[in-house]
Amino acid sequence: MTAFLFDGHHIQPGEKFKNIVRIENYPYEIPYVVINGSADGPVLMLTAGVHNQEFIGIQSAVELAREFDPDHINGTVLIFPMVNRSGFEHRTMSYTYEDGKNFNRVFPGDPEGSISEIYAHWFVHDVFPLVDYCVDMHSGDNFEELTPYVYCQGNAAPEVMEKSLDMARDVNVPYIVVSNEYTHGLYNQAGTEGIPGILIERGNLSQRNTEDSTMMKNDVYNIMVGLGMLRHRKHAASTDGIVLSDCIYQMSPQRGLWYPRWNKGTYVTKGSLIGEIHNYFGEVIYTCRAETDGVILYQTKSLNILEDDVMACIGVIDR
Ligand SMILES: [Zn+2]
Repeated sequence: MTAFLFDGHHIQPGEKFKNIVRIENYPYEIPYVVINGSADGPVLMLTAGVHNQEFIGIQSAVELAREFDPDHINGTVLIFPMVNRSGFEHRTMSYTYEDGKNFNRVFPGDPEGSISEIYAHWFVHDVFPLVDYCVDMHSGDNFEELTPYVYCQGNAAPEVMEKSLDMARDVNVPYIVVSNEYTHGLYNQAGTEGIPGILIERGNLSQRNTEDSTMMKNDVYNIMVGLGMLRHRKHAASTDGIVLSDCIYQMSPQRGLWYPRWNKGTYVTKGSLIGEIHNYFGEVIYTCRAETDGVILYQTKSLNILEDDVMACIGVIDR
């Protein structure tokens, strides 16, 4: 059993440690919790609030950090419950307040760049080398509704992709999306650095409820049992999440009022109506039709649609 070294602190086996970390040239102090288990095992990083208005992930991370008992854990859990503190404390719609960037699009970052890029670079260089696995917890943003699903890494070394898919199968959702991204996103970049990881999506429209956060926490517990990190819990049966090799993002050509036709999770056929954009006089100015057969994984639900915005993301089901 060994101490876990982070930010100059030696966190002993059996210890739970909470603190803030200061990052050079970055204006926010970032909270973290380390639970160093009383027995050896891997290091799992949990992140939430990468998108700051996705509250199910944040609430789940806060609760998990309080619930974990080091005496029940093999290995170490490193939790960042509020990654984009800048956005949260300015109530942006999941962008860094100072530079307007989406923190899940700036990896691997740049030490000479804007503050989001400086921060991403810090994660890659100061945190990733300490981590064996990662789980990033997201939800539907203010304008998004989604059917629960999980992304796994589809563009990394074969053993990383295999482990990532294993982790995704321990998440109790109907769909697993294999992502082709290898950079930009935190968990995508982690895969490129050799760290198996996943991104979980649960909850809608920046709402919070105990049902979704309980489900999200159960996902994390089940992943940890699968990784051999929890001694006093049984492995829930792996779910039969359908693996989707691709998803189509249908982007809006213009702004206006948005009227989605279906609910999240609906199966649609190629060519069927997905929604309409109206002008401010209520006249139809664009008709969105499905580019593929598939399931609506997520869609914009707010009345306002932006230009080049995701109207709907349709998961392609291989038959
Ligand atoms: Zn998100």
